[in-house]
Amino acid sequence: LAALLEHEQDLPSVTPDGHAMTLMVNTGLTVDTVASLKTRIGGVGLYRTEVPFMITERFPGEQEQTRLYREQLESFAPLPVVMRTLDIGGDKDLPYFPIEEANPFLGWRGIRVTLDHPEVLMVQLRAMLRASQGLDNLELLLPMVTNVDEVDDTLKLIERAIIELGEEGVEVRRPRLGVMLEVPATLYQLRALAARVDFFSVGSNDLTQYLLAVDRNNPRVADLYDSCHPAVLSALHRLAAESSELNVPTSVCGELAGDPAGALLLMGMGFRVLSMNGPNLPRVRAAIRRVSREAAAELVEQTLALETPAEVRAHLASRMQAWQ
Ligand code: PEP
Ligand code: MG
Repeated sequence: LAALLEHEQDLPSVTPDGHAMTLMVNTGLTVDTVASLKTRIGGVGLYRTEVPFMITERFPGEQEQTRLYREQLESFAPLPVVMRTLDIGGDKDLPYFPIEEANPFLGWRGIRVTLDHPEVLMVQLRAMLRASQGLDNLELLLPMVTNVDEVDDTLKLIERAIIELGEEGVEVRRPRLGVMLEVPATLYQLRALAARVDFFSVGSNDLTQYLLAVDRNNPRVADLYDSCHPAVLSALHRLAAESSELNVPTSVCGELAGDPAGALLLMGMGFRVLSMNGPNLPRVRAAIRRVSREAAAELVEQTLALETPAEVRAHLASRMQAWQ
C-alpha cells in the first residue's frame, strides 16, 4: 500500500466525480521533509510559530525570526504559507516565559497573551512582514480568538507594523488575515468576524476540547475526547454551510483533516481546503481519489443521524472498509 500511495503522490486530489480538493500541510520546526511534498499541495495551511520558539532560550529577536519565516516562505513560494501568531499557553509553555495557572486551557493563551504583550507581537508581525517582502505568499492567522475586538486590536498592530516598516524603507503589502475557529464562541459570531478577516481556519482539536469540555491532553478523559462526537460533527456541518453563505474561504487544520474518514466527512460537509501533517497527506489523498463527493455527502447525512460517538466510529469504520 505504501508503494501505491507513493505512486499517487503526483496525482491530483480529485474525487472520481471530478470534485477538486486542496490539501495543505501543517509545519512547525523546520521545512523538514514537507518541502519534498511540494508537488500537488496547496501550500502551508498552518505554520505553528510557537514550535521554533520552544527550542530557544529566549524570545528570538526580529532578525532571527525574519530568517526563520523567510525560509518557510521561500521554500513554498509561490504557494501560500499561513503563519499563525504565537499560540503559547495551554499546553505550550516556553521555558523562558512560564505561565502557571490552575486551568491553562481556559486561561492566558494565544492571542490573549500576545495582545497583553504587544511588544512581543509587534516583533513577530514585523519579522513576518519583512520576510514576505518580494514574495507575497504570507497569510496571517490568529489563534484562540474569542471576541471580535481581539481582531480589531491585532489589525491596528498589523497596520502599525506596515507603517513602521515603510518608514524604514521596507515596503510590504498587507497580507490576507484569518482567524482560527476553535473557541465555540466564534461559531456564533461568524458574520462579525467575516466583516474583519479574509478567511477562517477551523482548529478541530481545540474546538473538540472546548465543545466537549474535555482536556485534550488528560489521559483520564481521553476516551471522551473525540472529534467525531455527534455534537462536534454537527457544529462543523453548520459551520461549513454558514461560512460558505458568508463567502468566507474556510479550511480545516486540526487532526480531523488528516484522518481519511474525517477528511471525507469534511469534504462531504463542503470544506474544500484541508491542512494536515505531511505524513497523513498520501492517505487522505488516496481516500479522496476513491470516494465521490456525492458519497461523502451521503456519509455526512448518515453520520449526522447517529447519536453516540461509538456509533459514528463504527459506521465510519464500516464505510471505510467498503471503500478500500
Ligand atoms: C487546533 O486547535 O485544531 C489546531 C490546529 O491548533 P493547535 O493544535 O496548534 O492548537
Ligand atoms: Mg488550537
